[in-house]
Amino acid sequence: MTDDHDITAAFPIYDVVIIGGGPSGSACAYWLARAGWSVCLIEKKTFPREKTCGDGLTPRSVYQLQEMGLEGPVAQHGHRYNGLRAFGFGATLAMNWPEHPKFPNYGYTITRFNLDGLVAEHARAHGATLLNGVEVVDLLEPTTAIFGGLKGASGVIIKQKDSGTTSEIRARYVVAADGQNSRIGRELGVARNKSWPMGMALRGYYTSERHDEPWIDSHLDIRDPEGKVVPGYGWIFPLGDGRVNVGVGLLSTGGAWKGVNTTRLQDYFVAQCADAWGLNAETQCGAPTGGRLPMGLALGPHVGANTVTIGDAAGAINPFNGEGIAYGYETGRLAASVLGEALVANDDSYLAHYDELLDEAYGDYYKVARAFVRLISEPRILSAAVGAGLRVEPVMRALLSIMANLMDNDRRGPSEVTYRGLLALADVVPERAYDLLLGNERAAL
Ligand SMILES: Cc1cc2nc3c(=O)[nH]c(=O)nc-3n(C[C@H](O)[C@H](O)[C@H](O)COP(=O)(O)OP(=O)(O)OC[C@H]3O[C@@H](n4cnc5c(N)ncnc54)[C@H](O)[C@@H]3O)c2cc1C
Repeated sequence: MTDDHDITAAFPIYDVVIIGGGPSGSACAYWLARAGWSVCLIEKKTFPREKTCGDGLTPRSVYQLQEMGLEGPVAQHGHRYNGLRAFGFGATLAMNWPEHPKFPNYGYTITRFNLDGLVAEHARAHGATLLNGVEVVDLLEPTTAIFGGLKGASGVIIKQKDSGTTSEIRARYVVAADGQNSRIGRELGVARNKSWPMGMALRGYYTSERHDEPWIDSHLDIRDPEGKVVPGYGWIFPLGDGRVNVGVGLLSTGGAWKGVNTTRLQDYFVAQCADAWGLNAETQCGAPTGGRLPMGLALGPHVGANTVTIGDAAGAINPFNGEGIAYGYETGRLAASVLGEALVANDDSYLAHYDELLDEAYGDYYKVARAFVRLISEPRILSAAVGAGLRVEPVMRALLSIMANLMDNDRRGPSEVTYRGLLALADVVPERAYDLLLGNERAAL
C-alpha cells in the first residue's frame, strides 16, 4: 500500500469492486448490478479496446450472452456460423454444433474490440459504476491469507492512466478478473499448479474473400516446410467483416511441445493455408499477437476472507479447446451469485460456496480434459487418434460435443456415454500416471 495517494470522498464504499472489465469481470458486474448491489468495475484500458483472442464464441458463450440479453447486439456486430470443420492427416470433416436443450446450435465470431465493451456497458446500464482507463495498482489494506485461501483486502488502490492520480476504492468484497497475467491475483496469493496443462496461442488478422464462411476451421496437423508434423493446432475463424482470424495454439504440458516457438508455428500454419485463404503479406492486417491460456482451474486458491478470482485469473479456460470466454461469463456469474448470498446473509463465510460451485460445474469435466490433453500432447498419440477419428464421423461428432462441453446430462447419446467412460478412466488413473506412461518426466516433477 502507498501513502501518497489521494483519499477521496468521490467514491462510496461499494458492495463489490471488480478488477478487470473482460468477459468475466463484466459478466460478474452485470449479474451483481442487476440484483441491486452496488458494484464498481475497473478497466485499465478504454473500451472499445483490442484484446488478443481467436474471437470465437461457441454455443456455450452464446447462451450466456442470451441470458444477459445481449444476443441482438452480438448478432449485429458479429458473424453467425454453424459449426466446426476439422482438418487433419488428409481428412476433413464439417460438423454442425449439436442440438441441445439449453445451448443454441450455432455460434458467432466477433472481435473482442466489439464484444467486450458491449458487456461492460450493459453492466453500467444496469447500475454498475464503470471506470475506464483506470488501473488497479495495489490492494488496499491486504490481510493475511488464512486456511490456505487468498488474502483479504478492504478495497483497491487505483491510478488514472491519463493523469497518474491515485485514489482508494473501498468495498466489502474484491473480485480479481484481471486476466491471464493477473498481477492482482498473484498479490492475493494465486499460484499455478505447474504439473497441469497451460496453453499458449498467437493470432493475426488477414483480409480474405472467404471471410463469411459458415464454419470455423480447426487444423489438427501443422507441417513445417519439410512436411513434418509439428506439435500444435491452427485455426481460421471467418469474421464476416472482410477479415479472418488466423491463429495457432499449443500446450506446454508435454516434453515434445516444449521449445516450440509460436511465431514459427504461425508462419508454418499461414504458409500451409496461404493459397486456400489468400493469406500473404498484402492481406495481413498488422503483426500477430499472443498470450497464455491458464486452463483447467490450474490457478488457485479461488477464495479468501472477502476475495474471489474469476475467468482467466482463476485459470478457468477449457483445456479441451482453449475456450475461455464462456468460462469467464460463467465463473463471473457463479461468483456474483455467491457474493449476493453473502451480502444478503451479511456473512462472509458464504464465499466458501464458490469453490463448491466451481467443483460442481467443472471438477469432473476438467479432470477428464487434463487427462485428454496429456495424452494428445504426445504427437504419436495425436496423429494416430486424429488420423483414425476424422475418418469415423460419429466418433468425431461425439468428441465435438465433449470438447465444447455441450453434452446433455439427461441423454445417453454417444458423446454422453463416451464422456462417462473417460470420466471413469480418469477416476482410476492418477494424473501422474499419464506422465510416466508418456515418459514425460519433466511435467511429472
Ligand atoms: C491467442 C488467443 C486466442 C484465444 N481464442 C479464444 C477464442 O476464440 N474463444 C474463446 O472463448 N477464448 C479464447 N481465448 C481465451 C480468452 O481470450 C480468455 O479466456 C478470456 O479473455 C478470459 O476473460 P477474462 O475476463 O478472464 O480476462 P481478460 O479477457 O483478459 O480480461 C481482463 C481485463 O482486465 C484488465 N486488467 C488487467 N489488469 C488490470 C488492472 N490491474 N486494473 C484494471 N484492469 C486490469 C485487462 O485490460 C482486461 O480487459 C484465446 C486466448 C488467446 C491468448
